[in-house]
Amino acid sequence: MPFRPEHSYQDLSEQLFAPCKATPVHAPQWIAFNEELAKQLQIPQELWATEKGLQIFSGNQTPEWATPAALAYAGHQFANFVPQLGDGRALLLTEVIANNQQRYDIQLKGSGRTPYSRGGDGRSPMGPVIREYLVSEAMHKLNVPTTRALAAVATGEWVQRDTAQPGAILTRVAKSHLRVGTAQYVLHLRDYNLLKSFADYVIDRHYPALKDFATLYLDLLEHVQNKQAQLIAKWMSLGFIHGVMNTDNMTLSGETIDYGPCAFMEAYDPATKFSFIDKRGRYAYHNQPAIGLWNIARFAETLLPLIDDDPDKAVAQATATIETFQTTYEDYYWKEMSRKIGVNDPTIAKPLVERYLNLMQAQQVDFTQAFRFLGDATPERAQQLFENSDSWQIWFNDWQAHADRSDLHQVNPAYIPRNHLIELAIQAAANDGDLTIFNRLQRMLADPFTERTEFKDWFEPAKSEQAITQTFC
Ligand code: AMP
Ligand code: MG
Ligand code: MG
Repeated sequence: MPFRPEHSYQDLSEQLFAPCKATPVHAPQWIAFNEELAKQLQIPQELWATEKGLQIFSGNQTPEWATPAALAYAGHQFANFVPQLGDGRALLLTEVIANNQQRYDIQLKGSGRTPYSRGGDGRSPMGPVIREYLVSEAMHKLNVPTTRALAAVATGEWVQRDTAQPGAILTRVAKSHLRVGTAQYVLHLRDYNLLKSFADYVIDRHYPALKDFATLYLDLLEHVQNKQAQLIAKWMSLGFIHGVMNTDNMTLSGETIDYGPCAFMEAYDPATKFSFIDKRGRYAYHNQPAIGLWNIARFAETLLPLIDDDPDKAVAQATATIETFQTTYEDYYWKEMSRKIGVNDPTIAKPLVERYLNLMQAQQVDFTQAFRFLGDATPERAQQLFENSDSWQIWFNDWQAHADRSDLHQVNPAYIPRNHLIELAIQAAANDGDLTIFNRLQRMLADPFTERTEFKDWFEPAKSEQAITQTFC
């Protein structure tokens, strides 16, 4: 099968993007190239971690098959509406049709200024590139819908933040880069036909089965909502905290996007947040489902003109749809959590999960290990996590009476991208140009459900002196 670059989104309207080229960098060097993904995307092998590929994935050369453009979008950032955001440091290189017939965007992130850069430099320090590479690929292996990382290159240039840091560029792959914020941007152009063709494009690309339905825009809302409910339930079941759930960071495809100040929770505490800029905890762990609903309500607003000519009827229908978000989310969440303890009957599973989470919280137990050890053949490791082993024992006996633990190790990962490990990888790469830790972490996370003695030293949560409690974009 051939490599098939296309540019369907650019055919929609010139108002939705700005053609733009990457700014060349001085001395590009490979950090990583994802051959497994390259194969799926049918990227020509002459670009796989080669000199030619390096020129393209650093932005130094625009291949003949690319039509680079920065995409426009708007968004609510921490609940404040910004009418124009857009790709300020990213470029869509091309769309490709993968060997599964799925259309993907290939995007450079950190490739220089664009018409949407506002005050920014269009660049990315190496730290965030390494974090996004590791975490997005780990999420994929953890069976969470996500954008992926095809390549990472160092630019050989400095990026000025609080301090000067080495720069890097990530090549990101997504089912599309269309966001709730993109729909908001289109709505604000106040062009009914464009709004309709945008929604039709989203349906065609992500929800083609809806095409022939009479209520198709309401159905689009319901399907995007359903995908997001499912996605956030997945995050919650793994202790993942996105960190910046602005509407421009919520995709219409249902993939996790934009790994900024994200992190995985260690000791279970529903109020956990890591992001330095999230002062009030708007995007803390336990708020994620409610924020998902808030964002979906913003998406619903963009569809109102398409749902019904009568504004009151449109609002009534959209409201009736989004009112089901909470129950949809809870169904997914409890399904995930029931699987994590190997109890099928949700009426039995729910109180067991709640009691287990309470024990974890009271005794500050690592979320990942607490579930992982339930799949062990013997209870020792689980028991040792809990200081008050009497209360644990009571729970364990109740649980055991209902549980099937046979495939719990396929459900509950041994390895997650723990924050302190990512930090080790970033420090070594950025300060010393040493990719040993990054490469080893990638190997570990490529198979998160299989415990290996080789990675014994990275199995445990951070010791208090290693713990990273704040993350930065
Ligand atoms: P984010 O916080 O990554 O979701 O980005 C929010 C907005 O800021 C998007 O429009 C980005 O393109 C833009 N942005 C973030 N960092 C930069 C940068 N270094 N240069 C230009 N624009 C940026
Ligand atoms: Mg973003
Ligand atoms: Mg970002």
